[in-house]
Amino acid sequence: MNVEGVDGISNCIQCGKIFRNLGNSFNICQKCKELDEEEFNLVKDYIYENPFATLKNTASATGVKVMRIQSYLKNGRLMIPDNSPIFINCENCGASIKYGRICIECAKILSKEMKKEMSIEECQIGECPKRDSWYTTVFSSGFTK
Ligand SMILES: [Zn+2]
Ligand SMILES: [Zn+2]
Repeated sequence: MNVEGVDGISNCIQCGKIFRNLGNSFNICQKCKELDEEEFNLVKDYIYENPFATLKNTASATGVKVMRIQSYLKNGRLMIPDNSPIFINCENCGASIKYGRICIECAKILSKEMKKEMSIEECQIGECPKRDSWYTTVFSSGFTK
């Protein structure tokens, strides 16, 4: 039974337990929230101490699932340092981004198209990772703004 919305009672999205939601927007119980904080800090520390670690390395070193790490990136909680091989993809065009759900270019287009219907939160708009110089040379030659 879905009890969401009744007197602040929700199902925890993590463990499914019914709990009283005291104003946190993430429908997550206290226990899972604490665990989540712990895992998040593990991942964050690991990535900053090991800037060249891949997603797989990070997952196996911290014991946190790859999917969870990606979700930290998607909701903008975690930002990948420059030169890290970790990145995620723009949900709209598939470009590599360091965090968030869509790239800056798509954010511009989408916010123009949808105007007030959809506001994209700033934390969901991710920068592209730095490109190798050959890439920039190949793709920027011929384009003058
Ligand atoms: Zn829970
Ligand atoms: Zn995009």
